[in-house]
Amino acid sequence: MTVIIGVLALQGDVREHLVALAAADAVAREVRRPEELAEVDGLVIPGGESTTISKLAVLFGLMEPLRARVRDGLPVYGTCAGMIMLADKILDPRSGQETVGGIDMIVRRNAFGRQNESFEAAVDIKGVTGDPVEGVFIRAPWVESVGAGAEVLAEHDGHVVAVRQGNALATSFHPELTGDHRVHGLFADMVRANRARRSL
Ligand code: GLN
Repeated sequence: MTVIIGVLALQGDVREHLVALAAADAVAREVRRPEELAEVDGLVIPGGESTTISKLAVLFGLMEPLRARVRDGLPVYGTCAGMIMLADKILDPRSGQETVGGIDMIVRRNAFGRQNESFEAAVDIKGVTGDPVEGVFIRAPWVESVGAGAEVLAEHDGHVVAVRQGNALATSFHPELTGDHRVHGLFADMVRANRARRSL
């Protein structure tokens, strides 16, 4: 089944996600306007800088439409800054920083340290078969706590780094930077399953 997956293209590593989604057999498109958001079957919120993405989403009139579609069950996948955008609560928001929400979790920004403390580590993710995924952590957040509805998919060093709640998926790290498209494949499968359910 062909599905259209958008990448929120306000700031961040949009192009890498478009490539990874195409490799996962989805039609990938940039989303900058509410009309474009209305046309997608799923959405990726990329890594970048979450305060900037948040402010631009408000400026472009996308924050409320994003919240509405996520509430309505749109499959979404957030990496790093995108994970922060999907958190119902962040511990240390910058002034004016809002989130879309959708996952009952509390996220700590920059939890793994500064830019020069960025690192790579093998991560075992529930639902991704085969070898562990190479996790690229760039000024990455971690999940401080998850609510009852959210499922922990992966941990690193005792910290939660991947979570799923219903149709929403989030990772602290950046699978789009590695050439290994299994996590995008998992998300594309979630989008296809949702489409199939909806068209019954
Ligand atoms: N530290 C960034 C933030 O707070 C996220 C970094 C990233 O997406 N690589 O938004």
